[in-house]
Amino acid sequence: MRSRPARAFAAGLVFIGLRGSPTAQAAPPRLTVRVYDAVGVSPRERHSAEAHAAGILKDAGIAVAWRECPSELDDCVAPLEATEVIVRLVNSPGRAFVTDDLADSLGYSLVDAEEGRGWLATIFVDRIDRTARGANVTGSRLFGRAIAHEIGHLLLGLPTHAQRGLMRGRWTADQLRQNAPWDWLVSREEASAMRESLAVWRRQTTRPILITASDITADNLDDGAR
Ligand SMILES: [Zn+2]
Repeated sequence: MRSRPARAFAAGLVFIGLRGSPTAQAAPPRLTVRVYDAVGVSPRERHSAEAHAAGILKDAGIAVAWRECPSELDDCVAPLEATEVIVRLVNSPGRAFVTDDLADSLGYSLVDAEEGRGWLATIFVDRIDRTARGANVTGSRLFGRAIAHEIGHLLLGLPTHAQRGLMRGRWTADQLRQNAPWDWLVSREEASAMRESLAVWRRQTTRPILITASDITADNLDDGAR
């Protein structure tokens, strides 16, 4: 009988602790994503895709801020911040211009395995549309999942794929149709590694070299044509 009040007391402490924990918790690490849209995706579809991607990354404990580039409000000419990456939306090149690895891909990322990070991810919008139509699934959801997958590569600093979950390398039409939640999740280990990457990036002082095109002028072009 004596042990009961003690257990109740302990449980009450835990309960109070949990209720009080949100204010004590640190904010989730934040990743800023510059989105360059070379295709002209409708704002509604793009925002929906971004919301899907942000939801996946939020589940991994990462907050995403989207930065539309360039826009009326933001010319995006400043160098990338340490915790900033680029996602560009393009249509796929013709088959003659891509390697077999990229021939069917929905996107790809450039990753520096030694640095353990990437800066640039590319999404092939036309292939997203075609795949979604072929599988009869919502395009913006597939779009968002592809964005989250490529951002995952940038955060993990790995070009390799997982056996299952969002970071697997092959997505089948059946999987898209079945829409099983576990097929679109980041594993606990991956989420932890992504958050750790962001923490490391935040402490880094090195930034990518900013390459400007200010030396390319009409005069230079004229000289070259002579
Ligand atoms: Zn991949």
